[in-house]
Amino acid sequence: MKRFDYIRPGNMADAIAALQANDEPYLLAGGTDLLIGMKTNAVKPKCLIDLKGIPGIDCIEYDNGFKLGALTTVRDVEVSPLIREKIPALSEAAATLGSIQIRNRATIGGNLCHGSPAADMAAILLAMNCELQMATGNGAKTMGLDQFFTGPNSTVLNRNEVLAQIIIPKEIGQFKGIYLKHGPRKAMDIGIVNIAILLDADVSSGFCNQIMIALGAVAPRPIRAKKAEALLNANRLTPELIQEAAEAASDEATPISDFRASAGYRKDLVKNLVAKGIDQILNSKDPS
Ligand SMILES: Cc1cc2nc3c(=O)[nH]c(=O)nc-3n(C[C@H](O)[C@H](O)[C@H](O)COP(=O)(O)OP(=O)(O)OC[C@H]3O[C@@H](n4cnc5c(N)ncnc54)[C@H](O)[C@@H]3O)c2cc1C
Repeated sequence: MKRFDYIRPGNMADAIAALQANDEPYLLAGGTDLLIGMKTNAVKPKCLIDLKGIPGIDCIEYDNGFKLGALTTVRDVEVSPLIREKIPALSEAAATLGSIQIRNRATIGGNLCHGSPAADMAAILLAMNCELQMATGNGAKTMGLDQFFTGPNSTVLNRNEVLAQIIIPKEIGQFKGIYLKHGPRKAMDIGIVNIAILLDADVSSGFCNQIMIALGAVAPRPIRAKKAEALLNANRLTPELIQEAAEAASDEATPISDFRASAGYRKDLVKNLVAKGIDQILNSKDPS
């Protein structure tokens, strides 16, 4: 590993100043992606700016909607009683990431900023229509998570910007949700397909008021299955319509073939998991 400077700012303004003042700086959160990159020389920071000294950036706030500090660990999201009560699908998605040891270090902000198409927090938060708040040299900036990812391991973040907060809209509390991650192993593995579904439907009639479907690991970035959503929104969820929407979601996926799975297998999985996910939500007795 190359030598690097280490800075631990005590507030956000100092973090931004350090980003601007140093050559090839990298922000450090939990380090579970970054340190691996450094050990393999995939990234060679000349300066590490550790965000963990900034107060108030690792909190979970609830006021109808949620505000999650970017430095909140995935484990804190998983075990938060409020998240489990109000939006359990987020807690369930968090529980699938790596192992307890990894979740104790990994932050939700780091998971989003690393920009992996297979990031577990990305798919579920994308389905939840989240907004991101960034601290920049020119003040705070807000954008939808759907604008954030630009390609494999790449985001719109500029070098002098820090993701500060993830905002989950209050309406999400009325949706039932599910997170399905399919991979060769039950733990310590990224998914070969991740599906997050949020559904607001009338249980007795099966009428869908609104659905959000996010797909992970099947495109250069996490995506929403917009065509599938359009088929289901404001319609009765018949088995035929669900099947049609699942096929539409599969068509929207543009996966690659790699050593983990072929593109065709991933597309089949999207179809099956979208149908299964909607079905499970409709038949769940315990609303999420
Ligand atoms: C054994 C193992 C298993 C894993 N399993 C999974 C898995 O199942 N699912 C999954 O999704 N991931 C998995 N990961 C990947 C990793 O744990 C997550 O992506 C993690 O959430 C990254 O967060 P971090 O805090 O460790 O980020 P870091 O490693 O500290 O940072 C990651 C990147 O984001 C940038 N960054 C971090 N925070 C900010 C911020 N607030 N603002 C701007 N930029 C920032 C950093 O500069 C860096 O480029 C695994 C990793 C390991 C080692």
